[in-house]
Amino acid sequence: MSALFQTIRGQDPALALLQRALTADRVAHAYAFVGPAGVGRRLAALAFAQACLCRQQGCGACSACRRVAAGHHPDCHVVAPAPPKENPKGTPSIRIEQVREIEHWAALAPLEGPRKIFIVDDADRITREAAQALLKTLEEPPPRTLLILIVANVRALPPTVLSRCQLVRFRPLGEPDALALLGERGSDPATARLLARLCRGQVGLALETDLAEVQGRRAAALELLAIPRPRLAGRLDEARLDRDRGLVAAYLETYWLWYRDALCLAAGGDPALLVNEDRLEDLHALAARLPLAALVEALRVIKEARLALDANVNPRLALEHALLALEPAGAVAA
Ligand SMILES: [Zn+2]
Repeated sequence: MSALFQTIRGQDPALALLQRALTADRVAHAYAFVGPAGVGRRLAALAFAQACLCRQQGCGACSACRRVAAGHHPDCHVVAPAPPKENPKGTPSIRIEQVREIEHWAALAPLEGPRKIFIVDDADRITREAAQALLKTLEEPPPRTLLILIVANVRALPPTVLSRCQLVRFRPLGEPDALALLGERGSDPATARLLARLCRGQVGLALETDLAEVQGRRAAALELLAIPRPRLAGRLDEARLDRDRGLVAAYLETYWLWYRDALCLAAGGDPALLVNEDRLEDLHALAARLPLAALVEALRVIKEARLALDANVNPRLALEHALLALEPAGAVAA
């Protein structure tokens, strides 16, 4: 196995698939690395690029490997969402100019390695016209080209694009792997445990943040949940959530875990299984106040809001709709 693959934890099936392609010299021309953020998709894409450009299938030490890692290899291009040129504060997307650039480089021969590799990070954020342009490259891929799309939500890509990529699935890390990684980065065991749970195995997110920040975001989400409903619209106006899809998704995730924990308690589950185990008293209070059916209904409402968000409903509307359906007394002031 490529030495670099061994540094990535908890993604054995995905890495085995890539390793088989390398060993058999049957690397496809396009892959979609699908899975939640912070579980190793980007690391795996770089390791795969290194394995393709290194003479020893990714030793991690040679000049090619080091230049890929540093972003300096002439045959490995990483494309990330960027704001519009005329408006640096605008929403970052993968834009048609970027896809045209990929087309341009893909049409040329590799400069030194056996392939030209293009990694499109956060491909969920591709614009419709950029996706159409990308489809052309995928339909007639230039020789010796490898395209890797990193994507969280496959519905964000047109099916025509997706069907031309080999799917590689990445999963949230299991608790032992998450704890080991957080421990290696210096988290004490209790903090690591809570972080791993609150970030649901998305260790990259846990590593980028600290426990206070995660708890702060949870407190902000629960505070919205507790607001008397006549004051809700005003608070949402202040929070300016119209464009912040990521934050609304995080809030919905918080609500999901909160009600899931309450349901777990109400059903007699082991408190050690709770995500929000540091808020046991509040969860007991919620579980005692709402009947089981209401907790299940709350989860349905939250899931629906999450699907609406994925289907490009305005983030604020999706959140407001969910909060109005969740009774405010169901919350506990943060
Ligand atoms: Zn190497």
